[in-house]
Amino acid sequence: MPAIVKGFLNVKSYNAALESDPESLQPEFCIYCNYSGLNKHGHYTRCLTRKDKDKSLNAIITIIRMICCLCKRTFGLLPEFVSPMRWYLWCMQQTIISKLFEGESKSALSREFKLSRDTIYRWWSWFVNNEDRYRKVLYSLQATKDYHSDRNIFWPSRFDVVGLSHDMVQIHFSGIAIPCIDRRCIPLQGGH
Ligand SMILES: [Zn+2]
Repeated sequence: MPAIVKGFLNVKSYNAALESDPESLQPEFCIYCNYSGLNKHGHYTRCLTRKDKDKSLNAIITIIRMICCLCKRTFGLLPEFVSPMRWYLWCMQQTIISKLFEGESKSALSREFKLSRDTIYRWWSWFVNNEDRYRKVLYSLQATKDYHSDRNIFWPSRFDVVGLSHDMVQIHFSGIAIPCIDRRCIPLQGGH
């Protein structure tokens, strides 16, 4: 299970930090036992697939792995633009969810973006089943003054202003695991 490192919105800024100051990415505490003694424990690579409105990106990034000196467990450090537990980045999920809010069909999106209908269905189910809770969290964090708008208005406007990854990371840092249900997916401060 990875931890999330806040403050990196794209591959470029993440790679720059990784090259110039990798220490800045490292957390102080173990996500499992909260012990403060951690060491770097190699790395692994993660393939990123992003399809946006009119461009696609396939990149491979390096994920730092940490080991706890006390419980000996290891975990990777994901930059915030990478969605835990999902192959696609948040920006791709945002594009699809936006279009569903606009009324496009899952079948049409499946053809247009070459995604399986199951994937689109899974993203949509996750989002509509949780969005009310997410809105409450954002409201309680004072990230928005608007809570009562219809979801079809609220979310597209959030996506335009801050983006899905930004809100998901805020929700994650409030203690709610996204989109996974594993609560060990604990947020970390770090980065810029
Ligand atoms: Zn530990």
